Amino acid sequence: MEIKKRIYVGLLMASVLMAVSLVGAVWFLLQNRELLVGQVLLSIILGMVGIIFILAGIGVLAIIIMIIKSQSIPSLETFTRIANEILFPVTLLTGRLAGISKEKILQSYIAVNNYLVKSRKLLLEGPQVMILLPHCLQDSQCPHKITMDISNCKRCHKCSICDLIELGEKYHAVVKVATGGTLARKFMEETRPRGVVAVACERDLSLGIQDAAQVPVIGVLNCRPHGPCINTNVVVADVEQALQSICKGG
Ligand code: SF4
Repeated sequence: MEIKKRIYVGLLMASVLMAVSLVGAVWFLLQNRELLVGQVLLSIILGMVGIIFILAGIGVLAIIIMIIKSQSIPSLETFTRIANEILFPVTLLTGRLAGISKEKILQSYIAVNNYLVKSRKLLLEGPQVMILLPHCLQDSQCPHKITMDISNCKRCHKCSICDLIELGEKYHAVVKVATGGTLARKFMEETRPRGVVAVACERDLSLGIQDAAQVPVIGVLNCRPHGPCINTNVVVADVEQALQSICKGG
C-alpha cells in the first residue's frame, strides 16, 4: 500500500480502535453502577453505538482487503461507504492528534477514494460522465461567463479551461464549471451523471466526494501557483487518465 493511502487507512483503523476503547470504557463503568433502569437504557444506547462501529469496522476491513486485492467487492461497498461517512471526521481528529496535517490526511483520503472507485472497473459511456471544474481555473481577467454556459469560453488558451473543454469533447463527457458546492450540487441534480471526474483543492474534493454519496467521483487535485482560489491550474493528462479509468475503452 503506497504511503498516501497508508495514512488514511491507518487513521481509519486508529479511529475504530479509539471508538471501541471508548465504548468499552463506558461499558465497564456501567457495570459498576447501581441504578438498574439507567443501566439498561445506557446499555441499549451503547449497544446501538457499538453496532454502528462494528459496521464501520467491517467497512475499514473491506477497504484494506480491496486495496490489497486491487479489486472491488460489490457486496462490501455499502460498508466502505458507512466507514467513510462515519469515520471521516474522527479520522481528521485522530490525524490532528497524531500531528499529521489536514492537507495530508485529505490527500490520502482522496487517494483511497480514487483507488476504490478505479477498482470498481466502471465502463461508463462518455455522456454519462461529468467533468466538474472549479471556477478558479479560469483566468481571473477573463470577462466571459463560463459558469452559466461553458461554451462562452473563447478558447484563447490563457487558462486550462479550453483544453478541458476539448478533452470533454474528445470523450463526449459533460463539462461544467462550478463556483462552489451549491452550484456543483445543482449540476449533479440536472445532469445525473453515473460518474464524475472532479478537479479541486483537497478540501473541496473531499467534501464533494462525501456529498456525491452514491455517485463515484475521481478527484484530481489542482495546482495553486498563485495561492488558493485564483488562477489555479491542473495537469490535463491527469484529468484524461481519470476519465479513462471510468470510461469504456479507457
Ligand atoms: S481559455 Fe476560455 S476561460 Fe480561459 S481565459 Fe480564455 S476565454 Fe477565458
